Amino acid sequence: MTTKSASQKGIILKSSDEIDVMRRAGALVCRVLDHVCGLVKVGVTTGQLNEVAEKLIGDAGAEALFKGVVNPAASYPFPAALCTSVNDEVVHGVPGDRALKAGDILSIDCGVRIDGFCGDSARTVAVGDVSKDVQSLLSVTDASLALAIAEMKVGRMWSEVATAIQKKVESAGMSVVREFVGHGIGQEMHEEPKVPNYHDRSQKKSDFCLEEGMTLAVEPMVTLGASDVMYADADAWVIVTKDGSFAAHFEHSIAITANGPMILTAA
Ligand code: MG
Ligand code: MG
Repeated sequence: MTTKSASQKGIILKSSDEIDVMRRAGALVCRVLDHVCGLVKVGVTTGQLNEVAEKLIGDAGAEALFKGVVNPAASYPFPAALCTSVNDEVVHGVPGDRALKAGDILSIDCGVRIDGFCGDSARTVAVGDVSKDVQSLLSVTDASLALAIAEMKVGRMWSEVATAIQKKVESAGMSVVREFVGHGIGQEMHEEPKVPNYHDRSQKKSDFCLEEGMTLAVEPMVTLGASDVMYADADAWVIVTKDGSFAAHFEHSIAITANGPMILTAA
């Protein structure tokens, strides 16, 4: 399990044994998200959801990846196992005493490490009834991730996959967030390469070819309005849309295998 072969641009390829461990980490993330998403209802606080997640992760003997993460811009280390981002919050929402209301949407992001390897996945769910536009935001974002995964075959350039995500989103009149992107994942939550959800000329140099043994976290973040985002406040954790439009976030960790893409963060 110590074999590490570097491919393009510092990307660490994983052996099939390593991918097996990552499937275990991914399965736990899936179980936590299934459980926590099932508890989402009007009146529940994001802090309560985080408590449940922390217990499940602890009971499984796993490490909660997000807890204690230091961001030099932020005023404190990330305090929770989940990121819980509500409505116009795109990512990195901090769980607390915010109670969910009917018509809200909640993005839940979870990452764990088991036996030295990581899994990272996110989903956005509706709280009670939401408008047609918001339902469409969730389904388009989820579908853009599914579309990306289906395209993740050995020999494909990432730019082709990213273009497919971007087209799916933009043809629905929505926007892809550009300031935050997916990433390689393995022994560390964030490895090379950067995995953007759009493609333009600025991405040309960082494009890469999908190879067997690559493990990538793909995570489209989509807004109903413009793509611009900013910090919600001086704490410098929570990222919100600049125009206040709702945002959705779906993520899976995926291995590229000779037999096609394998979703690691599945049951
Ligand atoms: Mg994540
Ligand atoms: Mg991620």
